[in-house]
Amino acid sequence: MDEMHYEGVIIRPPSEANSVLLQVTVGCSHNKCTFCGTYKGERFRIKDQAIIEADIHYAAKNLSFLRRVFVTDGDALILPQVKLIWLLTRLREEMPWLTRVGLYGNAKSILRKTQEELKELRELGLGIVYLGLESGDAEVLREIKKGVSPERMIEAGTKVRDAGLKLSVTVLLGIAGRDRSLTHARATGAVLTAMDPNYVGVLTLMILPNTELGQKVREGRFDLLTQPELLLELREMLFYTHMTRGIFLSNHASNYLPLKVRMPAGKDQALQAIDAALSGRIPLKPEWLRAL
Ligand code: SF4
Repeated sequence: MDEMHYEGVIIRPPSEANSVLLQVTVGCSHNKCTFCGTYKGERFRIKDQAIIEADIHYAAKNLSFLRRVFVTDGDALILPQVKLIWLLTRLREEMPWLTRVGLYGNAKSILRKTQEELKELRELGLGIVYLGLESGDAEVLREIKKGVSPERMIEAGTKVRDAGLKLSVTVLLGIAGRDRSLTHARATGAVLTAMDPNYVGVLTLMILPNTELGQKVREGRFDLLTQPELLLELREMLFYTHMTRGIFLSNHASNYLPLKVRMPAGKDQALQAIDAALSGRIPLKPEWLRAL
C-alpha cells in the first residue's frame, strides 16, 4: 500500500487545505440538492473498515507533518456512532499529534445524534462540524431540495455548539435567484444569528451543467445574479447577521470580494468595504480569477 485510497471526487472546506483528507464514505447520504453536482451518480456507502484502517496507517507514517484530519465525503457524521467512536479512537492511537478532526454534517445527521453522543465525539477528538445551510429562507430551502426547514437547521447548529464543538456554516450567494435575493439574504442572516456559529463561509453559486439547477438555467427558469447584485445580497446578509464572536468569511475562490470579518467588531468596516466596491471605489476580482 503506497497511497491513500480515494474514490470519486473529494471536496473539503477551504480551511481544511492543510489537513489529511480521510475518506470514510463515498458520496452523500442526501444527494438531492439541486445545485450540487459533486456526488451525482455516486451511490452513498460507507467504505470498508480495512481500507480506512490502511489509510489511517498510511497517513500516520507519511503525513505526520499535518496536524489536522478532515473526514470525507459529503456527510460523514451520518456514520453510526460506534463507527465514529472507532474512527476517532484509531486516529488518536495512530496520530496522537493531531490537534483537530473535522467533518461535514448535515442537519439530519446532527439531529439523529443525542447531545451525549456529540459530546462523546468531542471528547474523542472531533473538533469542528461543517454544516451546509445555503439559505435561511424556507422557500429557498424547499426549492433547492435541501430537505430541512430553517427551524431544524437552527436546532442542528445549536446542538453542535451546545456539545462544545466548533460550528462552521456555509451559505450561498445567488442561490435564491433574482426576485428572492434580498429575502434570502435577510432570512439567512437571521438563521446565522440564531446559530451564532464560530465561522460563516459565504460562497457564490457556481452553476454546474450536470445538476437540476443547471437544467433550469438552460431553460431560462432561473436568473443568475450580476456582480453588483451578488454584492448587494452579501451586504444585506452581513447586515442582518449578528454574531457574538467568530469569523464571517467570503474568501473562497468563487467570491468576487474577499472578506474576512471578525465579528462583531469588524462588521461596520466590512459593510463600508462592500459599499466602496458597489460604488466602484475598490476593484472586484476579475472574472478570469473567479474560475480558479
Ligand atoms: S447535502 Fe451537501 S453534498 Fe449532499 S447533495 Fe446537498 S450540497 Fe451536495
